[in-house]
Amino acid sequence: MGIKSMGIRLVNVREAACGRCGYKWLPRKPGRPRKCANCHDPAWDKKRIYRPKGSGKKRTEKKGKP
Ligand SMILES: [Zn+2]
Repeated sequence: MGIKSMGIRLVNVREAACGRCGYKWLPRKPGRPRKCANCHDPAWDKKRIYRPKGSGKKRTEKKGKP
């Protein structure tokens, strides 16, 4: 374990994490990135949008099927 390596990471770099796809990256430019580096979603820093799929035709529940 080396303590010498400590201090190098004292950079003002804040990891950005996309709330949509879960991608994490280090933006080069300071400030908030315009979009996600992975899915290019401009609303990457917002929380995920959960779409209600309960009333859909698809059923994810499987009951009593061997
Ligand atoms: Zn993303």
